[in-house]
This record gives sequence, C-alpha cells and structure tokens, in this order.
Amino acid sequence: ETVNLNELFNYILNRFEMMLKNEDSPHHQKHYQIERDFTDKDLWVEIDTDRFTQVVDNLMNNAIKYSPDGGIITCRLLETHNQVIMSISDQGLGIPRKDLTHIFDRFYRVDKARSRAQGGTGLGLAISKEVIQMLGGRIWVDSTEGKGSTFYISLPFEQFEEDDWDVE
Ligand code: ATP
Ligand code: MG
Repeated sequence: ETVNLNELFNYILNRFEMMLKNEDSPHHQKHYQIERDFTDKDLWVEIDTDRFTQVVDNLMNNAIKYSPDGGIITCRLLETHNQVIMSISDQGLGIPRKDLTHIFDRFYRVDKARSRAQGGTGLGLAISKEVIQMLGGRIWVDSTEGKGSTFYISLPFEQFEEDDWDVE
C-alpha cells in the first residue's frame, strides 16, 4: 500500500514516547528522549505497514536497550533525488568494528553476556534486513564503540512529477 512515511514514523515514535510513562513498558525505567528532524515534504512510499513498523520497532527497541544511560535518540527523515532516507541515532554502547559486518546475521549478538541480560534472540536485524530488501531498499549502520550508533534505511521513492500533458 502507499503510505505517508512522515505520518507513520511520527505515529511509531509517539508510541515510544508513551512507553516512558507506561509502567508496564519494558522501557519505563529508561531516561531516553526522542528528537525528530523530519523534512516538511510528505514522502509517500510503497510498503507493507505492519512489516515496516516491525523494522522500526526493532531499531527503536535496540536504541533503547543498548543505551544503558538513556540519552537522546535522534530520528531523521529526508529525501535525496530518488530515495527516502530514515535514520535512528542513539548515544549508547556502540558496536565494535569487528562486529559491524555481522550484526545483520541471524542470531548474531555482540557480547553474549551483555546481550543475554537484555533479552532477545538476535533475529531482529536479520528480519529487518529481509523486509527492507524485499521493499527494494537498504539498511546499514554506522557506529563508534562507546559513543553510539546510527542505523539507516533507504527506500526507493517515486517522485510524483507534474503530468506533462501535450495540449494540442
Ligand atoms: P531481538 O531483536 O531478536 O530481540 P537483539 O536485539 O539482540 O534481539 P538484533 O536486533 O538483531 O537482536 O541485534 C543484534 C545485535 O546487535 C544485538 O544483540 C546487539 O549486540 C547489537 N546491536 C543492535 N542494535 C544496537 C545498538 N543500537 N547499539 C548497540 N548494539 C546494538
Ligand atoms: Mg533487537
């Protein structure tokens, strides 16, 4: 279906903001803050809303889980010539360079002990990659150990050009 990505991303982030106040949420004790830097232009994309929401949920859950001190989670949405780019940046543990190429593999988790304490299966990013590739997009990460991580998603984006009718 064709979805307004600005609206969908806002909707998902609002849910994560509400979790701060919800005592039943696993993130309730955390002190994170969400910042949004979105283009004003509405970006329409062809996606499966449920599966795409699952991907963004995993990236947000990771950003919170792997940021012991909370911090600011910066969410960006922008367009380039023919792509939509979304990013989620945290100020958490970061990912060691040697692990960067593996974190999208099934069951791969950095530092087994640390990850086990956090719960989870190590499947989130592998599934995310499958979903994004199915949509013709890409997912990648940029991270510095001890400083934080930024996950990016790009999606193909059809510009709606003004129709060029030949008037004769
Ligand atoms: P699941 O998502 O299945 O509940 P998970 O979060 O461990 O479990 P993935 O989402 O696939 O699995 O992430 C794989 C591993 O990558 C994590 O275990 C963690 O070590 C590392 N990782 C993912 N996101 C971050 C992040 N934002 N900061 C630091 N490390 C991360
Ligand atoms: Mg995860």
